[in-house]
Amino acid sequence: MSRVNIRPLFTGKTSTAQVRGGLCYIVESKADFLVIGQGVAGSLVTWELMRRGQRVRVLDEPRAGAASRSSGGLVNPLAGKKFPPAWRVQEALPYARDIYAALEDQLGCRLWFDQPMLRVLMDEKQVPALDRAAADPLASAFVGESFAPGRWAPQVADPLGSFVTQHAGWVDFETLVTRFRQWLAEQDLLMGEVEEPLEVAENVVYCEGWRGQENPHFSFVPWTPDRGLILHLELISGKLPPLIINRGQWLRPMWDGRYAAGATHGWDRFDQPPLEDEVMALLETIQEWTTARFNVVGATAGVRPAVNDRTPVLGRHPQDARRSILNGLGGKAALRAPFLARMLVNSLLAGEAIPETHDVARFWKG
Ligand SMILES: Cc1cc2nc3c(=O)[nH]c(=O)nc-3n(C[C@H](O)[C@H](O)[C@H](O)COP(=O)(O)OP(=O)(O)OC[C@H]3O[C@@H](n4cnc5c(N)ncnc54)[C@H](O)[C@@H]3O)c2cc1C
Repeated sequence: MSRVNIRPLFTGKTSTAQVRGGLCYIVESKADFLVIGQGVAGSLVTWELMRRGQRVRVLDEPRAGAASRSSGGLVNPLAGKKFPPAWRVQEALPYARDIYAALEDQLGCRLWFDQPMLRVLMDEKQVPALDRAAADPLASAFVGESFAPGRWAPQVADPLGSFVTQHAGWVDFETLVTRFRQWLAEQDLLMGEVEEPLEVAENVVYCEGWRGQENPHFSFVPWTPDRGLILHLELISGKLPPLIINRGQWLRPMWDGRYAAGATHGWDRFDQPPLEDEVMALLETIQEWTTARFNVVGATAGVRPAVNDRTPVLGRHPQDARRSILNGLGGKAALRAPFLARMLVNSLLAGEAIPETHDVARFWKG
C-alpha cells in the first residue's frame, strides 16, 4: 500500500479500513470531483455537483487578476451594441435567479439585486436596432420605456435617446466567492496544493479563469484574456437617475452617494493592479457624458477570461475524459454562469450533449 492517511476526506463520510500485515490502516477514498479555481465558475460548478450528491473538493489559490473579485457583476439581457437577447436567455435568466436565491439561503447573504438599466444610445445605428428589438418577440420582453433625446440632459448626455432594459440588475460576486469559500472551509472541503489532481479525485474540473491559459491540458484553447478596471466613486456634485446607467461605460448606484463604475478593456498587464493614469482615464471618459462629479475612493483590476470566438468553453477534454473545464465566461458571467455550470454537470453526470458552439472540443485539432 503506497499511501496511508488517517484523515477522512469528508466530514461525516466513512473511510475504508484495511488490514495489512497485522496493522490497521485507514485509507482515504478519492473524491468524485476536484474543482480547481473558485471564482464564480468554480463556485457554481461545485454547488451543482454537491446538489447532485457528488463528493467534491475544491482547490483555489489566490492569483492576481481573479475576475470575480473585480467585476461589475451586471446582468444585462440585451448586452450587445444592437441589443440581441443573451444566448438562451429564457432559460438562463430564470435559472440564474433560482440558483442565486438558493445560494442566498445557504450562505445567509444577499447576492442578487434587481435594478433597471438605462441604456443610452451612442451610435445612430442603434436607433433602428432599438426599433427592431422592440418588435422582436424575444428581445421585446426586455425593452422597457424608451425616451426621446435630451430626456436625461444635462445629467447624462443622451443626444440619440435611451431606453430602460428590464429584468436587469447585478450579482455581488465578491460576496458570493468569499462566503462560498467560508462555507467550503467549514465543511473541510478546501484543499492545499496537489501534485496530480487525479490522485485525489476521480475527475477534475478546471475553473481557473484567465489562468486557464497556463494549463497544459487546455493549451489548444485560443485564450484572449481581457483586463478591466472597476472604480468605486463618491458623488460630490450633481444628480443622477436611480438606475444603472450604461453608455458604453456604466455607473451603478450603491449606497450613500457611492457608485461603482466600469469598465475598461486591455490586453496586457494581466497581473498588475490599476495604475493611476488608467483610473483617471476611465473617470474622465465617464465625466465626458455626465455633469455629475466624483471622487475616486477605490479601484481594482481583474481579467475577463475569454477565448477568440467570445463564447464560453465547457466540457470534457477530448482525449482525457476525466479532465473537464468551465471557462471563457467573458463579460457576461452573472447571467450565464449558473446555466452553463448546470449544462456542464448534466454532461458529466448524465451524458447530456453540450452544444458544439460551447463545447471545448470545438478547438481540438488532434
Ligand atoms: C473589470 C471587469 C468587469 C466585469 N464586469 C462584468 C459584468 O458587469 N457582468 C458580468 O456578468 N461579468 C463581468 N465581468 C466578467 C466576470 O467577472 C468573469 O467572467 C467571471 O468572474 C469569471 O469567473 P471565473 O470563475 O471563470 O474566473 P475567476 O474569477 O478569475 O476565478 C478563477 C479562480 O481560480 C484561481 N486559480 C486560477 N488558477 C488556479 C490554479 N492553477 N490553482 C488554484 N487556483 C487557481 C484564481 O485565483 C481565482 O480565484 C467583468 C470582469 C472584469 C474583470
